Amino acid sequence: MGFDFSLTDEHKMVQDTVHKLVRQFDSQHVEFRRQIFKEQVYPEALWKAFCDAGLMGCVIPEEYGGNGMGLLAMTLAFETLNSYGFGSPLFVITAMDATCILNHGSEELKQRFLPKIAQGELKLCYAHTEPDAGSNVFNTQTVAKREGDEYVISGQKVFITAPDICDYMLVVTRTSSFEDAVKAGNKSYGLSLFVVDLKSPGIEMQMLPLMGLEGSKQFALFFDNLRVPAENLVGEENLGAKIIFDSLNPERILAAGMAVGMVELMLQRATSYARERKVFGGKPIGAYQSISHPLAEVKIQQEAARLLTYRSAWAFDQGMPADVVGNYSNMAKLTSADNAIKAVDQAIETLGGYGFSEEYEIIHFWATARVLKTAPITREMILNFVAEHNLKLPRSY
Ligand SMILES: Cc1cc2nc3c(=O)[nH]c(=O)nc-3n(C[C@H](O)[C@H](O)[C@H](O)COP(=O)(O)OP(=O)(O)OC[C@H]3O[C@@H](n4cnc5c(N)ncnc54)[C@H](O)[C@@H]3O)c2cc1C
Repeated sequence: MGFDFSLTDEHKMVQDTVHKLVRQFDSQHVEFRRQIFKEQVYPEALWKAFCDAGLMGCVIPEEYGGNGMGLLAMTLAFETLNSYGFGSPLFVITAMDATCILNHGSEELKQRFLPKIAQGELKLCYAHTEPDAGSNVFNTQTVAKREGDEYVISGQKVFITAPDICDYMLVVTRTSSFEDAVKAGNKSYGLSLFVVDLKSPGIEMQMLPLMGLEGSKQFALFFDNLRVPAENLVGEENLGAKIIFDSLNPERILAAGMAVGMVELMLQRATSYARERKVFGGKPIGAYQSISHPLAEVKIQQEAARLLTYRSAWAFDQGMPADVVGNYSNMAKLTSADNAIKAVDQAIETLGGYGFSEEYEIIHFWATARVLKTAPITREMILNFVAEHNLKLPRSY
């Protein structure tokens, strides 16, 4: 059988569902945007509509209350939502935790969390970054120690998105020292992942004055003797590095979908303006190649980024090994994030001074596009990965 790049009827239905659900709120779009950009709050009505339509359930099989349509379906839904400027990291972080619990959690954890996630009843966030462990997760210092039928977690995390509004959090900890792991010749040994109830005593949150992921807030978290039931361990103790990519790959794929949706929005806003705006009489500015060619370049890169994004989601859905999915999802994230920066920049260029006006809602996306170059993984770490794993070049670090 040859290649088939067409979307299935089911996939088209998913896109259509999102168009309809966003349009049903037409009269509230202005208010939603005010909440997202001014209050850093994501409208609960949009979260609920997305989940009620079964779209969070795409990454969860039917036996756990989802619809099992897969990450590609969720990516298409999320891309479409972002093409209206209504994406939120909430969907990404909840879905990435769900895929990790699904693939590595105990049966009890799956039964406890997945049906509620599929229904939109639970929101989850993800905490890996620490002051000295961002690109280098192996430098994680947050410690989890077993005490009877609990683990006691102490340490800190930084830049964590949305713990203030989430119910649970997947936390990366160290259950064996890095030095021991290095001595044993396996520096990835010693990490463990836990699902933590955010209402537990022992968690302090400090909001960070950060821009970029509008509609959500970021926090520094401090864990002081935070007690977690042992059954909340996801996967095996010390072997967290083996399973972490079943969260990180979906995160990168959905982040790529977010960028692709944002580019669509920027192209729509720039081209509709360029078709109308006349500066020297006669033809509109869209006829000037200084305006049209950069937009055409963004469009070409958009198609490339979209293909990479769908391919990586498809690879995940096929159950391909995490390193193979990682390869595609890294390439998708880099390509789509680079193009999102160009797209916002060129949309601003097209609108001239109006590009900076809040009314046209382009400048708001500048920081988000730029964040996607840095998070969830930096552009440099992706280039390192591709150089090492695809090109077999030696590491510099
Ligand atoms: C808005 C926002 C939301 C976030 N939300 C979350 C969240 O919910 N949960 C979470 O866990 N984290 C979150 N993060 C953290 C994010 O994942 C990290 O900021 C990112 O992975 C980079 O880590 P760092 O900031 O520690 O940078 P560092 O690792 O200190 O890197 C600094 C710079 O050095 C470069 N660099 C480092 N090592 C190398 C190398 N070997 N070769 C080449 N260059 C290198 C990096 O590419 C980067 O440019 C968020 C960040 C932001 C900005």
